[in-house]
Amino acid sequence: MFSAPANQCQSEVPTSGMLHYSGEDPAVTRFRELLSIQTISLKNLDTPGPQPDYYGVVRFLEREAKEIGLLFKCFEVAPNRPVVIISWEGADPTLPSVMLNCHTDVVPVFQDKWECDAFSAYKKENGDIVARGSQDMKCCGCWYLEAVRNLRAAGKSFLRTIHMTFMPDEEVGSFNGMIKFVQREEFKELNVGFCLDEGLANPTDAFTVFYAERSPWWLTIHCPGNPGHGSRFIENTAVEKVRKILNRALDYRDSQEARLNSDPSLRLGDVTTLNVTMLGGGVQWNVVPDSMSLGMDLRVTITQDHQELLEMIQGWAREAGEDCTVEFRIRDSKSPVVSTDESDPWWRAFSSACKQRDLKVEKEVFPAGTDSRVIRPLGIPALGFSAINNTPILLHDHNEFLNERVFLKGIPIYEDIISNLASVKP
Ligand code: ZN
Repeated sequence: MFSAPANQCQSEVPTSGMLHYSGEDPAVTRFRELLSIQTISLKNLDTPGPQPDYYGVVRFLEREAKEIGLLFKCFEVAPNRPVVIISWEGADPTLPSVMLNCHTDVVPVFQDKWECDAFSAYKKENGDIVARGSQDMKCCGCWYLEAVRNLRAAGKSFLRTIHMTFMPDEEVGSFNGMIKFVQREEFKELNVGFCLDEGLANPTDAFTVFYAERSPWWLTIHCPGNPGHGSRFIENTAVEKVRKILNRALDYRDSQEARLNSDPSLRLGDVTTLNVTMLGGGVQWNVVPDSMSLGMDLRVTITQDHQELLEMIQGWAREAGEDCTVEFRIRDSKSPVVSTDESDPWWRAFSSACKQRDLKVEKEVFPAGTDSRVIRPLGIPALGFSAINNTPILLHDHNEFLNERVFLKGIPIYEDIISNLASVKP
């Protein structure tokens, strides 16, 4: 059962902190207010640079919780990495709860490529709100809050407890966010039965829901070789080994790309991608180096045999030279697949809300990574969904935007989804 909040975070709640945009729906104003808080995550806790303003977000959320009349809880999982939980207790708080998750950090911007300040929450005449985080994923955090605000105002109450969770650090691997959060007592106390997390925009009329993720594999292959003078035919050099591995890796990449392009029913999440993202080595022009390395980013799809893939990569290294070694930075195991069968009560709750609203829903494997990759292996089903259609996929891109009409249409969608999820019978 959720206990009364012990508020560890020191923040002052502004009494009237609302920015004023005349004639605008207040929900849009609140969304723009959250977007205007700069929360670019830093790679590590000690990375130099301006700190993300997580406490600006905490103050915003604390005010929201107060206005809506919900329990607010905040604590740090690492220095300056606060997690916020906003809770609405259900009629039976002993039942597993519904978790609505949102990460509060965003990725950096190349400001000179933007048409406006990425943190000014600029709204164009056509209603496009151009801001970092507008799609990924401050929109979702606001949808949860706006939907719950409306449901409470309408006097609704539900069987299960609803927890809105706000995480730092997702964009840099969740090491000082979700990964630490799920190890804490505060998480166990939530007794989560189901989690809703972020999805992606869909450029068509349809909406996309994600029921699994590809597994990230980040690795380095080290290639030692004979050094020598740059004027000679040295044998068995590091670069020759790199070339052999590059050829194998890029051939594999081509084969997966061809598979994707040859079958229109396949999406990016249905194949394995490979990119050589780093090449290291070399001293100066006239010295043949004694070692070189290749860094790769693979996203392994759920139908891929992990052991087979591992042996293939190790085989590339062996073929290039007996002394070549493979070192993993990340090698996630297979993502659990969440049921999208109508017999599953959580899926039925989600899909019937979409049917109620006549939404066309496409099921996909998430091509990149989200906090759900931490949640699903705990045995908790998690679906990735962002109520964004008719919008280009611009997460992490220049001029990321969400139109205010799409944002406003999303609120009743979330009202229905949340109502159904919190009413799932035991
Ligand atoms: Zn995201």
